[in-house]
Amino acid sequence: MTKFKPRARKVKILATLGPASSDPDVLRALFRAGADAFRFNMSHGDHAMHAANFATVRALEKEFNRPIAILCDLQGPKLRVGTFAEGKAVIAHGAQFVLDDNPAPGDATRVQLPHPELFAALQAGQRLLINDGKIRLRVKQVKSGTITCVAEVGGVISDRKGVNVPDAEVPIPALTAKDRADLAFAMEQGADWIGLSFVQRPEDILEAKELMQGRAFLCAKIEKPQAIKRLHDIIEAADGVMVARGDLGVELNPEEVPPLQKKIVNATRLTGKPVIVATQMLESMIESPTPTRAEVSDVANAVYDGADVVMLSAETAAGAWPEEAVMMMDSIARQVEADDGYTARVRMLDTPSDATTADALAHACMTIGDTIALNAICVFTDSGSSARRVARERPAVPVMVLTPSMQVARRITLLWGAHPVATRDIGSFEEMIAKGKRMALRHGFGGAGARVAMLAGVPFGKSGATNLLHIVRLTGDELEEYPAGSVE
Ligand code: PGA
Ligand code: MN
Repeated sequence: MTKFKPRARKVKILATLGPASSDPDVLRALFRAGADAFRFNMSHGDHAMHAANFATVRALEKEFNRPIAILCDLQGPKLRVGTFAEGKAVIAHGAQFVLDDNPAPGDATRVQLPHPELFAALQAGQRLLINDGKIRLRVKQVKSGTITCVAEVGGVISDRKGVNVPDAEVPIPALTAKDRADLAFAMEQGADWIGLSFVQRPEDILEAKELMQGRAFLCAKIEKPQAIKRLHDIIEAADGVMVARGDLGVELNPEEVPPLQKKIVNATRLTGKPVIVATQMLESMIESPTPTRAEVSDVANAVYDGADVVMLSAETAAGAWPEEAVMMMDSIARQVEADDGYTARVRMLDTPSDATTADALAHACMTIGDTIALNAICVFTDSGSSARRVARERPAVPVMVLTPSMQVARRITLLWGAHPVATRDIGSFEEMIAKGKRMALRHGFGGAGARVAMLAGVPFGKSGATNLLHIVRLTGDELEEYPAGSVE
C-alpha cells in the first residue's frame, strides 16, 4: 500500500479523464498531484475506454487505501445541426439562413436541424446560437418544417455543430437514448455520481433518479437560463450542483456568469450539498505549462467563494500538461486557504443552523475549532448527512469522516474539507473514542497531545440520531496494538 498524506486543503479537485489521462501512470500522477475525484465525460470516448478507467481508478483506491469518487457526466440533449455538402459553409452577416427538416446536405443558405421538437418550440424573435455562440441567428418565421432566420452574426458553420436555444424551453426529455444507455453502463460499473446536463426543471432530476434507484448521487449541471429560474427546486431535488460555465456562458451572456456563479454557489452551500465550479478554469494550460494570471485569479476566487470543488476539463482530458494543471490548481487552493482572511471570507455567507440537535452540534464543532487548538473533527456517520452539516459550517480544521459505507465514503470525496474513511461500524462509546483516536493518528491528523472533536449518534448504528460531541486528546500510543495496514 502506498502511503497517502491527507490533502493540505479543504477545497476538492475534480479532474476530467480523456485521451491525455487514460494511461494508468498518468491517472496515478493526477491523483498524487491532488485530484480527489475523476469525471468521465460520456460525450467523448466509448464504453471500453470508460470501463478501463473505472478499473484503473478502483485499483488506485486499493493502492492508496483512499476512496475516490467517479462522476459520470451524461451528454444530455445537446442540439446539433446536420451536415454540409462541403463539410462547412460561410453564413454572411445579415444574410438569411434556413433551418429545415430536409436531410439533404446544407450550404450557405440552409441546413437540416434534426430535432423535430424545435420546429414547434421556437418562435419569431428568438435566438439560435451555433458553435459555442460564435454564430447568432434570429428567428424571422417558423412554418411546418422550416425556420427562417437572419444571421445577426455570421461565420463559418460546419458539420454537426452545436446549437443553443436560450430563449425557448425545449420540450425534449432530459435523457436521450444515448444518455439512458450511458446511465445504465455507469450504474453497472458502479459510478458514485452522475452529472445531468442541460437540466431545465426539477422533474428532469426526478426522472434520472427514478432510473438510478439510489445507486449513485446526482449532480445537476446548471447551464440553462430555465434552470436559473427554478434554481432552488433544482438544488432541492439534486444531491449536488455544478456551475457549468461553458454552456451557461453561451445560453446567457458571458458577463452574466460571474454573478450567477456566486448566486449558485451560495444557494447550494446553504443546503450543505457540494457545489462544483467548472469549465475553462486553467484553459490555457491545455497548451501551455503555465496558466494566465486571470485563470489563477479565477480558481482563487472560486476557492474564496467557498465552493466545494474546482474542476478541470480539457486541461486534464485532452491537454498537453494534465499533471501540471492539477498541481497548479492544488497550489492555488493551498495558497488561498493559507491566507489570514480566507476563513472569514468563506464564512461571509451566513448559513443559519436548522433547529435540530444534529445541526446545533455541527455548528458547535465549528466554534470549538475556533476556540481551542483542534487538529480535526471526527464525524461518525452512516448516511453522510452529519458530514454535510459539519462541512457546511466551513470549520477551520479538517473533517475526518468515518463511515461503514464505502459508497458514502466515495461520494463524500466531493465535500469541502472532508477526509472520508471507510471503516467497520462501532458498537460502543469506548470503541468510538479508541477508533477515532487511532484513525486520527493513522491518517496524519496529529500525534501525542493532538486534540480531536468527535461527533456521533447514540445508540450506535441508528441513522439520523447525531447527539454526542466529545473532545479527546491523543497520547500517540493508540496504534501500538494496531500496526499500519491492519484492517478495521
Ligand atoms: P460540458 O459541461 O463540459 O459537459 O459541456 C460543462 C459546461 O458546460 O461548462
Ligand atoms: Mn455543458
